[in-house]
Amino acid sequence: MAAEVDPGRRQMMAELAAWHDEWARKWGIDDHPYEGMTIEEWEARIPPEAQADYQRGADAIQAAWRGPAPASSTTYALAGEELPPPPRLGDDVPPPQPPAAPPPPLARTRDEALFYLQLQRCPRCGEQRTPWGSELVEVGGVLARRYFGDCAQCGQAREYVFRVPDRIPPRPPGASMHYGGDEPSELIDAGQWLLMSEPAAEQTRADLAAGELRDAALHAELALTCVTEVTKFVPPGSTEVPDSGFFTPAGRAARAADPRRFTLRRLLLLLDMLHEEFDPVLPAGTLAAGRAPASPAAEADRRPAWRPDDPRSDSAPPQPATPTEPSVPTERAVPAVPLGRTTAEIRLFLAMRPCDCGAVTDQWSSHLGQAGADLAAVYSATCPACGRQRDFSFRLPPEELGSGPEGASFRYGDATPSQLLDPGEWLLAADQLARSVPVLEPGASDQERARYRYALGRAAAALAEVARFAPPGAVQVPESAFVTDRGRAAYAAEPGRFRLDRLAAVRDAYLRLLEDAGLT
Ligand SMILES: [Zn+2]
Ligand SMILES: [Zn+2]
Repeated sequence: MAAEVDPGRRQMMAELAAWHDEWARKWGIDDHPYEGMTIEEWEARIPPEAQADYQRGADAIQAAWRGPAPASSTTYALAGEELPPPPRLGDDVPPPQPPAAPPPPLARTRDEALFYLQLQRCPRCGEQRTPWGSELVEVGGVLARRYFGDCAQCGQAREYVFRVPDRIPPRPPGASMHYGGDEPSELIDAGQWLLMSEPAAEQTRADLAAGELRDAALHAELALTCVTEVTKFVPPGSTEVPDSGFFTPAGRAARAADPRRFTLRRLLLLLDMLHEEFDPVLPAGTLAAGRAPASPAAEADRRPAWRPDDPRSDSAPPQPATPTEPSVPTERAVPAVPLGRTTAEIRLFLAMRPCDCGAVTDQWSSHLGQAGADLAAVYSATCPACGRQRDFSFRLPPEELGSGPEGASFRYGDATPSQLLDPGEWLLAADQLARSVPVLEPGASDQERARYRYALGRAAAALAEVARFAPPGAVQVPESAFVTDRGRAAYAAEPGRFRLDRLAAVRDAYLRLLEDAGLT
Protein backbone atom coordinates (compact mmCIF):
# COMPACT_ATOMS: atom_id res chain seq x y z
CA MET A 1 0.00 0.00 0.00
CA ALA A 2 1.01 3.59 0.13
CA ALA A 3 4.31 3.32 1.88
CA GLU A 4 6.55 6.31 2.11
CA VAL A 5 7.96 6.84 -1.35
CA ASP A 6 11.57 5.87 -2.11
CA PRO A 7 14.07 8.75 -2.36
CA GLY A 8 14.74 8.38 -6.11
CA ARG A 9 11.09 8.55 -6.97
CA ARG A 10 10.64 11.35 -4.51
CA GLN A 11 13.24 13.46 -6.26
CA MET A 12 11.70 12.77 -9.64
CA MET A 13 8.27 13.65 -8.38
CA ALA A 14 9.57 16.82 -6.79
CA GLU A 15 10.88 17.83 -10.19
CA LEU A 16 7.58 16.90 -11.80
CA ALA A 17 5.77 18.91 -9.16
CA ALA A 18 7.99 21.93 -9.70
CA TRP A 19 7.39 21.66 -13.43
CA HIS A 20 3.66 21.34 -12.82
CA ASP A 21 3.65 24.51 -10.74
CA GLU A 22 5.64 26.39 -13.30
CA TRP A 23 3.41 25.14 -16.08
CA ALA A 24 0.19 25.97 -14.17
CA ARG A 25 1.44 29.50 -13.52
CA LYS A 26 2.48 29.91 -17.11
CA TRP A 27 -0.92 28.85 -18.46
CA GLY A 28 -3.05 30.18 -15.60
CA ILE A 29 -4.45 26.75 -14.75
CA ASP A 30 -6.21 25.79 -11.55
CA ASP A 31 -5.02 22.30 -10.68
CA HIS A 32 -7.96 21.17 -8.56
CA PRO A 33 -10.45 18.82 -10.19
CA TYR A 34 -13.56 19.47 -8.14
CA GLU A 35 -15.67 16.63 -6.87
CA GLY A 36 -18.27 15.39 -9.29
CA MET A 37 -16.13 16.51 -12.23
CA THR A 38 -14.48 13.80 -14.28
CA ILE A 39 -10.81 14.04 -15.06
CA GLU A 40 -11.88 14.31 -18.69
CA GLU A 41 -14.11 17.27 -17.88
CA TRP A 42 -11.32 18.90 -15.95
CA GLU A 43 -8.78 18.24 -18.68
CA ALA A 44 -11.21 19.57 -21.27
CA ARG A 45 -10.83 23.00 -19.72
CA ILE A 46 -7.12 22.96 -20.43
CA PRO A 47 -6.14 24.22 -23.90
CA PRO A 48 -4.53 21.50 -26.04
CA GLU A 49 -1.36 23.53 -26.50
CA ALA A 50 -1.01 23.76 -22.70
CA GLN A 51 -1.54 20.01 -22.36
CA ALA A 52 1.11 19.34 -24.98
CA ASP A 53 3.49 21.72 -23.24
CA TYR A 54 3.01 19.96 -19.90
CA GLN A 55 3.52 16.57 -21.48
CA ARG A 56 6.77 17.64 -23.13
CA GLY A 57 8.19 18.82 -19.83
CA ALA A 58 6.99 15.80 -17.87
CA ASP A 59 8.37 13.37 -20.46
CA ALA A 60 11.76 15.05 -20.34
CA ILE A 61 11.94 14.79 -16.53
CA GLN A 62 10.86 11.16 -16.49
CA ALA A 63 13.26 10.23 -19.29
CA ALA A 64 16.13 11.87 -17.40
CA TRP A 65 15.34 9.85 -14.29
CA ARG A 66 14.92 6.58 -16.16
CA GLY A 67 18.41 7.09 -17.46
CA PRO A 68 19.78 5.62 -20.66
CA ALA A 69 18.40 2.19 -21.47
CA PRO A 70 21.02 -0.44 -20.51
CA ALA A 71 21.00 -1.96 -23.98
CA SER A 72 24.66 -2.84 -24.20
CA SER A 73 25.82 -6.20 -22.81
CA THR A 74 28.97 -4.58 -21.47
CA THR A 75 26.87 -2.76 -18.92
CA TYR A 76 26.65 -5.84 -16.74
CA ALA A 77 29.94 -7.49 -17.59
CA LEU A 78 32.15 -7.99 -14.58
CA ALA A 79 35.85 -8.74 -14.58
CA GLY A 80 36.62 -12.38 -15.17
CA GLU A 81 33.12 -13.22 -16.23
CA GLU A 82 32.31 -14.54 -19.60
CA LEU A 83 30.45 -12.00 -21.63
CA PRO A 84 27.06 -13.01 -22.87
CA PRO A 85 26.83 -13.03 -26.67
CA PRO A 86 26.20 -9.54 -27.94
CA PRO A 87 22.70 -8.97 -29.22
CA ARG A 88 22.55 -8.81 -33.01
CA LEU A 89 20.49 -6.48 -35.03
CA GLY A 90 17.19 -8.07 -35.91
CA ASP A 91 17.12 -10.28 -32.80
CA ASP A 92 13.80 -9.81 -31.07
CA VAL A 93 15.35 -9.31 -27.66
CA PRO A 94 13.64 -6.69 -25.54
CA PRO A 95 16.12 -4.44 -23.76
CA PRO A 96 16.23 -5.13 -20.01
CA GLN A 97 13.94 -2.74 -18.16
CA PRO A 98 13.99 -1.73 -14.56
CA PRO A 99 11.04 -3.42 -12.84
CA ALA A 100 7.95 -1.27 -13.33
CA ALA A 101 6.96 0.50 -10.14
CA PRO A 102 3.40 -0.37 -9.15
CA PRO A 103 1.01 2.51 -9.71
CA PRO A 104 0.26 4.49 -6.57
CA PRO A 105 -2.82 3.34 -4.65
CA LEU A 106 -6.15 4.88 -5.46
CA ALA A 107 -7.63 7.53 -3.20
CA ARG A 108 -11.30 7.42 -4.17
CA THR A 109 -11.95 10.95 -2.91
CA ARG A 110 -9.96 13.74 -1.40
CA ASP A 111 -11.70 13.08 1.93
CA GLU A 112 -10.34 9.56 1.83
CA ALA A 113 -6.80 10.71 1.09
CA LEU A 114 -6.92 13.18 3.98
CA PHE A 115 -8.45 10.61 6.31
CA TYR A 116 -5.68 8.18 5.36
CA LEU A 117 -3.02 10.81 6.02
CA GLN A 118 -4.47 11.41 9.47
CA LEU A 119 -3.84 7.75 10.24
CA GLN A 120 -0.17 7.84 9.25
CA ARG A 121 2.60 8.65 11.64
CA CYS A 122 5.88 10.34 10.94
CA PRO A 123 8.44 7.57 10.31
CA ARG A 124 11.02 9.40 12.38
CA CYS A 125 9.16 10.63 15.48
CA GLY A 126 5.69 9.07 15.36
CA GLU A 127 3.83 12.38 15.23
CA GLN A 128 0.58 12.39 13.24
CA ARG A 129 0.19 16.09 12.63
CA THR A 130 1.66 17.37 9.41
CA PRO A 131 0.42 20.43 7.52
CA TRP A 132 -0.17 18.83 4.14
CA GLY A 133 0.01 20.58 0.81
CA SER A 134 -1.02 18.84 -2.36
CA GLU A 135 -0.74 19.04 -6.09
CA LEU A 136 -1.57 16.99 -9.13
CA VAL A 137 1.30 15.02 -10.65
CA GLU A 138 1.68 12.40 -13.28
CA VAL A 139 3.26 9.12 -12.27
CA GLY A 140 4.03 6.57 -14.97
CA GLY A 141 1.34 7.97 -17.21
CA VAL A 142 -1.41 8.09 -14.56
CA LEU A 143 -2.74 11.17 -12.91
CA ALA A 144 -2.00 11.27 -9.21
CA ARG A 145 -2.16 13.66 -6.32
CA ARG A 146 0.95 14.18 -4.27
CA TYR A 147 0.65 15.23 -0.65
CA PHE A 148 3.71 16.68 0.98
CA GLY A 149 4.59 18.44 4.19
CA ASP A 150 7.03 18.64 7.06
CA CYS A 151 6.27 16.79 10.26
CA ALA A 152 4.80 19.22 12.79
CA GLN A 153 7.11 17.89 15.49
CA CYS A 154 10.46 16.93 13.98
CA GLY A 155 10.33 18.59 10.58
CA GLN A 156 10.87 15.35 8.65
CA ALA A 157 9.78 15.79 5.03
CA ARG A 158 6.85 13.50 4.33
CA GLU A 159 5.22 12.59 1.08
CA TYR A 160 2.43 10.37 -0.19
CA VAL A 161 1.14 9.91 -3.69
CA PHE A 162 -2.33 8.61 -4.55
CA ARG A 163 -3.85 7.75 -7.88
CA VAL A 164 -6.76 9.98 -8.84
CA PRO A 165 -9.89 8.08 -9.94
CA ASP A 166 -11.20 8.35 -13.47
CA ARG A 167 -14.39 9.70 -12.05
CA ILE A 168 -14.83 11.10 -8.57
CA PRO A 169 -18.10 9.72 -7.20
CA PRO A 170 -20.52 12.54 -6.36
CA ARG A 171 -20.89 13.35 -2.70
CA PRO A 172 -24.25 12.09 -1.42
CA PRO A 173 -26.52 14.97 -0.46
CA GLY A 174 -26.22 15.86 3.20
CA ALA A 175 -23.06 13.83 3.74
CA SER A 176 -20.32 15.70 5.54
CA MET A 177 -17.73 13.02 4.80
CA HIS A 178 -17.32 11.22 1.53
CA TYR A 179 -14.75 8.47 1.24
CA GLY A 180 -15.84 6.82 -1.99
CA GLY A 181 -18.49 5.07 -4.00
CA ASP A 182 -19.47 1.42 -3.70
CA GLU A 183 -15.99 0.07 -4.37
CA PRO A 184 -13.82 -0.89 -1.40
CA SER A 185 -10.98 1.33 -0.26
CA GLU A 186 -7.43 0.69 -1.50
CA LEU A 187 -5.96 2.79 1.30
CA ILE A 188 -7.71 1.73 4.48
CA ASP A 189 -8.53 -1.92 4.97
CA ALA A 190 -11.64 -3.55 6.41
CA GLY A 191 -10.06 -4.09 9.83
CA GLN A 192 -8.98 -0.47 10.12
CA TRP A 193 -12.41 0.85 9.18
CA LEU A 194 -14.06 -1.31 11.81
CA LEU A 195 -11.50 -0.31 14.44
CA MET A 196 -12.24 3.34 13.72
CA SER A 197 -16.00 2.94 14.00
CA GLU A 198 -15.82 2.05 17.68
CA PRO A 199 -14.21 5.22 19.06
CA ALA A 200 -16.50 7.24 16.79
CA ALA A 201 -19.58 5.61 18.34
CA GLU A 202 -18.15 6.12 21.84
CA GLN A 203 -17.46 9.75 21.06
CA THR A 204 -21.02 10.20 19.80
CA ARG A 205 -22.35 8.98 23.13
CA ALA A 206 -20.02 11.30 24.99
CA ASP A 207 -21.13 14.23 22.79
CA LEU A 208 -24.78 13.41 23.42
CA ALA A 209 -24.17 13.22 27.16
CA ALA A 210 -22.50 16.65 26.98
CA GLY A 211 -25.32 18.08 24.87
CA GLU A 212 -22.98 18.66 21.91
CA LEU A 213 -25.45 17.77 19.21
CA ARG A 214 -23.45 19.02 16.23
CA ASP A 215 -20.42 16.99 17.24
CA ALA A 216 -22.64 14.03 17.99
CA ALA A 217 -24.08 14.17 14.49
CA LEU A 218 -20.61 14.22 12.94
CA HIS A 219 -19.31 11.38 15.04
CA ALA A 220 -22.46 9.32 14.46
CA GLU A 221 -22.04 9.83 10.74
CA LEU A 222 -18.40 8.77 11.00
CA ALA A 223 -19.28 5.61 12.95
CA LEU A 224 -21.92 4.65 10.40
CA THR A 225 -19.68 5.54 7.47
CA CYS A 226 -16.80 3.43 8.82
CA VAL A 227 -19.00 0.34 9.18
CA THR A 228 -20.49 0.94 5.74
CA GLU A 229 -16.95 1.06 4.34
CA VAL A 230 -16.30 -2.39 5.86
CA THR A 231 -19.37 -3.80 4.10
CA LYS A 232 -18.00 -2.62 0.73
CA PHE A 233 -15.29 -5.27 1.02
CA VAL A 234 -17.87 -8.08 1.00
CA PRO A 235 -18.22 -9.22 -2.61
CA PRO A 236 -21.76 -9.68 -3.97
CA GLY A 237 -23.10 -13.07 -2.93
CA SER A 238 -20.45 -13.52 -0.24
CA THR A 239 -21.10 -13.59 3.48
CA GLU A 240 -17.91 -12.11 4.86
CA VAL A 241 -14.95 -9.88 4.15
CA PRO A 242 -12.40 -11.94 2.15
CA ASP A 243 -8.68 -12.20 2.97
CA SER A 244 -7.93 -9.52 0.41
CA GLY A 245 -9.88 -7.05 2.54
CA PHE A 246 -7.11 -7.08 5.16
CA PHE A 247 -3.91 -5.53 3.89
CA THR A 248 -2.44 -3.72 6.88
CA PRO A 249 -0.94 -5.13 10.07
CA ALA A 250 -3.57 -3.32 12.16
CA GLY A 251 -6.39 -4.64 9.99
CA ARG A 252 -5.08 -8.19 10.04
CA ALA A 253 -4.68 -8.03 13.82
CA ALA A 254 -8.29 -6.85 14.15
CA ARG A 255 -9.49 -9.80 12.16
CA ALA A 256 -7.27 -12.28 14.02
CA ALA A 257 -8.68 -10.98 17.30
CA ASP A 258 -12.24 -11.78 16.26
CA PRO A 259 -12.94 -12.94 12.68
CA ARG A 260 -16.69 -13.09 13.39
CA ARG A 261 -16.88 -9.33 13.40
CA PHE A 262 -16.34 -9.35 9.65
CA THR A 263 -19.34 -11.41 8.58
CA LEU A 264 -21.91 -9.53 6.55
CA ARG A 265 -24.62 -10.47 9.00
CA ARG A 266 -22.77 -9.01 11.91
CA LEU A 267 -21.85 -5.87 10.01
CA LEU A 268 -25.46 -5.30 8.99
CA LEU A 269 -26.60 -5.91 12.56
CA LEU A 270 -24.07 -3.39 13.76
CA LEU A 271 -25.29 -0.88 11.17
CA ASP A 272 -28.88 -1.47 12.24
CA MET A 273 -28.02 -0.95 15.88
CA LEU A 274 -26.04 2.20 15.17
CA HIS A 275 -28.90 3.54 13.07
CA GLU A 276 -31.42 2.69 15.76
CA GLU A 277 -29.29 4.53 18.28
CA PHE A 278 -28.04 7.49 16.27
CA ASP A 279 -30.59 8.22 13.53
CA PRO A 280 -32.39 10.71 15.79
CA VAL A 281 -29.25 12.88 16.05
CA LEU A 282 -28.28 12.69 12.38
CA PRO A 283 -29.45 15.52 10.17
CA ALA A 284 -32.10 14.39 7.70
CA GLY A 285 -30.55 13.31 4.44
CA THR A 286 -27.49 11.72 5.98
CA LEU A 287 -29.29 8.42 6.33
CA ALA A 288 -29.07 7.45 2.71
CA ALA A 289 -25.30 7.82 2.88
CA GLY A 290 -24.98 5.57 5.88
CA ARG A 291 -27.43 3.12 4.42
CA ALA A 292 -25.59 2.53 1.16
CA PRO A 293 -26.10 -1.15 0.41
CA ALA A 294 -22.96 -3.23 0.39
CA SER A 295 -24.17 -5.59 -2.30
CA PRO A 296 -27.43 -6.95 -3.65
CA ALA A 297 -27.18 -9.74 -1.09
CA ALA A 298 -26.78 -7.20 1.66
CA GLU A 299 -29.80 -5.27 0.49
CA ALA A 300 -31.93 -8.42 0.43
CA ASP A 301 -30.85 -9.24 3.97
CA ARG A 302 -31.92 -5.92 5.31
CA ARG A 303 -34.86 -5.68 7.57
CA PRO A 304 -37.59 -3.22 6.62
CA ALA A 305 -36.36 0.28 7.26
CA TRP A 306 -39.51 1.29 9.10
CA ARG A 307 -38.54 2.38 12.59
CA PRO A 308 -41.21 2.65 15.25
CA ASP A 309 -38.80 4.44 17.56
CA ASP A 310 -37.75 7.14 15.16
CA PRO A 311 -39.16 10.38 16.62
CA ARG A 312 -39.05 12.03 13.21
CA SER A 313 -41.30 9.47 11.60
CA ASP A 314 -44.76 10.93 11.86
CA SER A 315 -46.35 7.66 10.80
CA ALA A 316 -44.75 5.82 13.71
CA PRO A 317 -47.30 4.25 15.99
CA PRO A 318 -46.58 4.57 19.68
CA GLN A 319 -44.58 1.95 21.51
CA PRO A 320 -46.81 -0.26 23.54
CA ALA A 321 -47.61 1.57 26.74
CA THR A 322 -45.59 0.41 29.68
CA PRO A 323 -47.36 -0.42 32.91
CA THR A 324 -46.91 2.44 35.32
CA GLU A 325 -46.67 0.42 38.49
CA PRO A 326 -43.09 -0.04 39.61
CA SER A 327 -42.06 -3.60 39.04
CA VAL A 328 -40.23 -5.51 41.72
CA PRO A 329 -37.19 -7.34 40.41
CA THR A 330 -37.92 -11.03 40.28
CA GLU A 331 -35.86 -14.17 40.00
CA ARG A 332 -36.03 -15.36 36.45
CA ALA A 333 -35.42 -18.93 35.35
CA VAL A 334 -33.38 -18.01 32.30
CA PRO A 335 -29.68 -18.24 31.42
CA ALA A 336 -27.39 -15.46 32.62
CA VAL A 337 -27.51 -13.84 29.18
CA PRO A 338 -30.96 -14.48 27.72
CA LEU A 339 -31.59 -14.91 24.04
CA GLY A 340 -33.08 -11.90 22.26
CA ARG A 341 -34.52 -13.47 19.13
CA THR A 342 -35.33 -10.23 17.31
CA THR A 343 -34.75 -6.52 17.86
CA ALA A 344 -38.53 -6.15 18.25
CA GLU A 345 -38.55 -8.63 21.12
CA ILE A 346 -35.65 -6.85 22.81
CA ARG A 347 -37.29 -3.44 22.42
CA LEU A 348 -40.57 -4.75 23.82
CA PHE A 349 -38.73 -6.21 26.79
CA LEU A 350 -36.97 -2.89 27.44
CA ALA A 351 -40.28 -1.01 27.18
CA MET A 352 -41.78 -3.35 29.77
CA ARG A 353 -38.91 -3.07 32.24
CA PRO A 354 -39.12 0.24 34.10
CA CYS A 355 -36.22 1.35 36.25
CA ASP A 356 -36.39 0.44 39.93
CA CYS A 357 -37.56 4.04 40.47
CA GLY A 358 -40.50 3.41 38.13
CA ALA A 359 -39.36 5.58 35.23
CA VAL A 360 -39.34 4.32 31.67
CA THR A 361 -36.93 5.39 28.95
CA ASP A 362 -36.63 4.68 25.28
CA GLN A 363 -33.17 6.25 25.05
CA TRP A 364 -31.23 3.02 24.83
CA SER A 365 -27.84 2.90 23.20
CA SER A 366 -26.73 -0.44 21.89
CA HIS A 367 -23.59 -2.10 20.70
CA LEU A 368 -22.51 -5.55 19.68
CA GLY A 369 -20.48 -7.67 22.04
CA GLN A 370 -19.84 -11.31 22.89
CA ALA A 371 -21.58 -13.63 25.32
CA GLY A 372 -19.22 -16.60 25.43
CA ALA A 373 -19.11 -17.92 21.90
CA ASP A 374 -22.28 -16.07 20.92
CA LEU A 375 -22.82 -12.67 19.48
CA ALA A 376 -24.57 -10.40 21.99
CA ALA A 377 -26.31 -7.06 21.91
CA VAL A 378 -25.73 -4.78 24.88
CA TYR A 379 -28.31 -2.07 25.56
CA SER A 380 -27.51 0.74 27.97
CA ALA A 381 -29.40 3.74 29.26
CA THR A 382 -29.20 6.26 32.05
CA CYS A 383 -32.51 6.54 33.87
CA PRO A 384 -33.87 10.04 33.14
CA ALA A 385 -35.51 10.19 36.57
CA CYS A 386 -32.96 8.81 39.02
CA GLY A 387 -29.74 8.70 36.99
CA ARG A 388 -29.21 4.99 37.55
CA GLN A 389 -27.11 3.28 34.87
CA ARG A 390 -29.04 0.42 33.32
CA ASP A 391 -27.53 -2.30 31.15
CA PHE A 392 -29.01 -5.37 29.55
CA SER A 393 -27.24 -7.98 27.46
CA PHE A 394 -28.97 -10.28 25.02
CA ARG A 395 -27.50 -13.22 23.18
CA LEU A 396 -28.33 -13.05 19.48
CA PRO A 397 -29.44 -16.12 17.52
CA PRO A 398 -26.90 -17.85 15.28
CA GLU A 399 -28.95 -16.98 12.22
CA GLU A 400 -30.76 -13.70 11.99
CA LEU A 401 -34.52 -14.20 12.29
CA GLY A 402 -35.94 -10.81 11.44
CA SER A 403 -39.47 -9.75 12.27
CA GLY A 404 -40.72 -9.41 8.72
CA PRO A 405 -42.99 -6.57 7.65
CA GLU A 406 -45.58 -5.10 10.01
CA GLY A 407 -48.99 -6.76 9.78
CA ALA A 408 -50.27 -10.32 9.82
CA SER A 409 -46.88 -11.96 9.25
CA PHE A 410 -44.97 -9.93 11.86
CA ARG A 411 -43.11 -12.06 14.41
CA TYR A 412 -41.14 -11.51 17.59
CA GLY A 413 -39.18 -14.73 17.27
CA ASP A 414 -39.09 -18.31 16.11
CA ALA A 415 -41.06 -21.23 17.60
CA THR A 416 -39.00 -21.37 20.80
CA PRO A 417 -40.51 -19.78 23.92
CA SER A 418 -39.25 -16.32 24.79
CA GLN A 419 -36.46 -15.96 27.33
CA LEU A 420 -37.25 -12.28 27.89
CA LEU A 421 -40.94 -12.07 28.72
CA ASP A 422 -43.17 -14.65 30.34
CA PRO A 423 -46.57 -15.67 28.91
CA GLY A 424 -48.45 -13.31 31.23
CA GLU A 425 -46.35 -10.38 30.04
CA TRP A 426 -46.87 -11.34 26.40
CA LEU A 427 -50.65 -11.36 26.94
CA LEU A 428 -50.49 -7.95 28.63
CA ALA A 429 -48.45 -6.61 25.71
CA ALA A 430 -51.01 -8.02 23.24
CA ASP A 431 -53.87 -6.38 25.15
CA GLN A 432 -52.10 -3.01 25.27
CA LEU A 433 -51.30 -3.11 21.59
CA ALA A 434 -54.85 -4.05 20.59
CA ARG A 435 -56.32 -1.34 22.82
CA SER A 436 -53.93 1.30 21.49
CA VAL A 437 -55.88 1.70 18.23
CA PRO A 438 -59.53 2.65 17.72
CA VAL A 439 -61.80 0.86 15.27
CA LEU A 440 -60.65 1.68 11.76
CA GLU A 441 -63.21 3.96 10.14
CA PRO A 442 -63.71 3.98 6.37
CA GLY A 443 -61.70 6.85 4.97
CA ALA A 444 -59.02 6.59 7.67
CA SER A 445 -55.75 8.31 6.84
CA ASP A 446 -52.66 6.38 5.78
CA GLN A 447 -51.17 7.22 9.14
CA GLU A 448 -54.15 5.72 11.01
CA ARG A 449 -54.01 2.64 8.82
CA ALA A 450 -50.30 2.24 9.52
CA ARG A 451 -50.94 2.43 13.26
CA TYR A 452 -53.68 -0.11 12.95
CA ARG A 453 -51.52 -2.56 11.03
CA TYR A 454 -48.65 -2.06 13.48
CA ALA A 455 -50.78 -2.60 16.59
CA LEU A 456 -52.92 -5.52 15.48
CA GLY A 457 -50.09 -7.29 13.67
CA ARG A 458 -47.93 -7.07 16.77
CA ALA A 459 -50.81 -7.99 19.07
CA ALA A 460 -51.41 -11.16 17.03
CA ALA A 461 -47.68 -11.92 17.13
CA ALA A 462 -47.61 -11.43 20.92
CA LEU A 463 -50.49 -13.92 21.31
CA ALA A 464 -48.51 -16.44 19.26
CA GLU A 465 -45.70 -15.94 21.78
CA VAL A 466 -48.04 -16.80 24.68
CA ALA A 467 -48.93 -20.12 23.06
CA ARG A 468 -45.26 -21.10 22.57
CA PHE A 469 -44.99 -21.76 26.31
CA ALA A 470 -47.41 -24.70 26.09
CA PRO A 471 -45.55 -28.00 25.77
CA PRO A 472 -46.58 -30.39 22.95
CA GLY A 473 -49.99 -31.94 23.60
CA ALA A 474 -50.93 -29.41 26.30
CA VAL A 475 -54.21 -27.51 26.01
CA GLN A 476 -53.02 -24.51 28.00
CA VAL A 477 -49.93 -22.70 29.17
CA PRO A 478 -48.71 -24.35 32.39
CA GLU A 479 -48.58 -22.26 35.55
CA SER A 480 -44.84 -22.96 35.89
CA ALA A 481 -44.19 -20.80 32.82
CA PHE A 482 -45.18 -17.63 34.70
CA VAL A 483 -42.04 -16.28 36.35
CA THR A 484 -42.69 -12.55 36.86
CA ASP A 485 -45.00 -10.91 39.36
CA ARG A 486 -46.89 -9.20 36.60
CA GLY A 487 -47.18 -12.41 34.59
CA ARG A 488 -48.36 -14.41 37.60
CA ALA A 489 -50.93 -11.73 38.40
CA ALA A 490 -52.28 -11.91 34.86
CA TYR A 491 -52.60 -15.67 35.14
CA ALA A 492 -54.28 -15.51 38.56
CA ALA A 493 -56.77 -12.93 37.30
CA GLU A 494 -57.95 -14.99 34.33
CA PRO A 495 -56.33 -18.41 33.87
CA GLY A 496 -58.84 -19.31 31.13
CA ARG A 497 -57.27 -16.76 28.80
CA PHE A 498 -54.18 -18.97 28.60
CA ARG A 499 -56.03 -21.89 26.99
CA LEU A 500 -54.65 -22.52 23.53
CA ASP A 501 -58.08 -22.51 21.88
CA ARG A 502 -58.92 -19.11 23.36
CA LEU A 503 -55.54 -17.68 22.40
CA ALA A 504 -56.01 -18.92 18.84
CA ALA A 505 -59.52 -17.46 18.65
CA VAL A 506 -58.40 -13.99 19.74
CA ARG A 507 -55.43 -14.11 17.41
CA ASP A 508 -57.67 -15.12 14.51
CA ALA A 509 -59.96 -12.20 15.33
CA TYR A 510 -57.04 -9.75 15.10
CA LEU A 511 -55.88 -11.24 11.83
CA ARG A 512 -59.43 -11.07 10.43
CA LEU A 513 -59.62 -7.38 11.34
CA LEU A 514 -56.41 -6.79 9.42
CA GLU A 515 -57.74 -8.75 6.48
CA ASP A 516 -61.06 -6.84 6.49
CA ALA A 517 -59.10 -3.60 6.41
CA GLY A 518 -57.01 -4.87 3.52
CA LEU A 519 -53.92 -4.61 5.72
CA THR A 520 -52.51 -8.12 5.86
ZN1 LIG B 1 8.37 13.67 12.94
ZN1 LIG C 1 -34.70 5.41 37.73
